[in-house]
Amino acid sequence: MTDPLSPPVKKDPLKNTRMGHVSPGLRSRAARAMAVRAGQGRFVLQVCDYCCTATYPPRDRCPKCWGTLDWQDQPTGATVMTETTIRVTTDLFFKEHAPWRVGSVQLEAGPTAIVHLHSDVRPGDRVRMELKLDRGGNPALFAMPEKETPNMVDDAQYRTFTADPKHRRVLVTDGRGPVGQAMAKALLKAGARAVFLGNGDTTMRFDGEAEMVAHENVEIVPLNVTDTNSVTKLAHQLGGRIDIVVNTAAVTRQSGVAFGSKLTDLQAGFESEVTGLMRLAQGFGPAMSARSDDGTNSAAAFVDVASVYGLTGRAGFAGQAATAAARLALISGLRGEMAQTGIRVISVLTGPVDDVWHQHVPPPKTAPAQIAKSVIDALTRGLEINCAGDAAKDLFARWQADPFLTIREENQ
Ligand SMILES: [Zn+2]
Repeated sequence: MTDPLSPPVKKDPLKNTRMGHVSPGLRSRAARAMAVRAGQGRFVLQVCDYCCTATYPPRDRCPKCWGTLDWQDQPTGATVMTETTIRVTTDLFFKEHAPWRVGSVQLEAGPTAIVHLHSDVRPGDRVRMELKLDRGGNPALFAMPEKETPNMVDDAQYRTFTADPKHRRVLVTDGRGPVGQAMAKALLKAGARAVFLGNGDTTMRFDGEAEMVAHENVEIVPLNVTDTNSVTKLAHQLGGRIDIVVNTAAVTRQSGVAFGSKLTDLQAGFESEVTGLMRLAQGFGPAMSARSDDGTNSAAAFVDVASVYGLTGRAGFAGQAATAAARLALISGLRGEMAQTGIRVISVLTGPVDDVWHQHVPPPKTAPAQIAKSVIDALTRGLEINCAGDAAKDLFARWQADPFLTIREENQ
């Protein structure tokens, strides 16, 4: 049984913060391809097109017949064969975290593998395998108990593969809208220690303000993502105390490209969603990076909630799709930078949100609570990308299968 995670104690200001080492970068294209699928929460192995053998670790050709390999989802069952505890290592991250348990498992899918072990599993146990991303964005296999055990997700080794909000302090950038408020409630339910809720206009009250203020662990803070001074000021105040940033900034307006659009709406969208995202990354990224291995409430993740139509464009909402596309590009760049420091960068993609701006859009629409649930899911599983709601899931699946066809479908 795993001991429940204790709330973090106040830090001794004279103590140095532990440096956030990450494992060495990926060495092969196959390993990167596995990382992409790990970031989507899939459990995959390469399977030979010719002899149908599943293989691990990732490689370029089938080790049996030299055939070509394809990624396929696989059963997650396995049996632990051996275990060992690493006490001495030259790896800087594992040196700080020793002792560390690893073991060999027989995967139901065929191959054997060296994997990280949850503290509740022993040799001979049936286990459920998860494909995770380590702090440097490398794929790794993790053996979990087959059936849920008490405080399972509090396991110290498992927690380094996730960004679980439990005991962490979170900044939600737009607290004036329903998405930010649903986010705050979901984070508190998931055990977050504090939620700082951004308010872009302190002179105007907003719907739901009283309910948010009434929460003991919610603090409303002035934050206007279109104003560099506002972001910098808050980053100076809170930078060292923010463990997770969830960017919920969104400007939704109906618009075409040549027809039915206002340039000012497009500019407002880019200023808030795109330049705003960069301001947040520059304001909070460095301080978070310095605290990526700082104990129970180490800084863990930067989450961006954007429209799934950033992948395709969208008839009738061209401006919103354009800002989302720019956000996805910035998030990809940020992910590469943060992989050097051990902070996870997560995209949560949404369909049309069930709000006043999508009143005329037919269902399925995405409820704010669904978006919040999807963010919590991504944090607790350590994902890189997660779709909130059926519309986003459907579009993402179609886009993965045939990107240009999906672009055509969404714009005609
Ligand atoms: Zn083969």
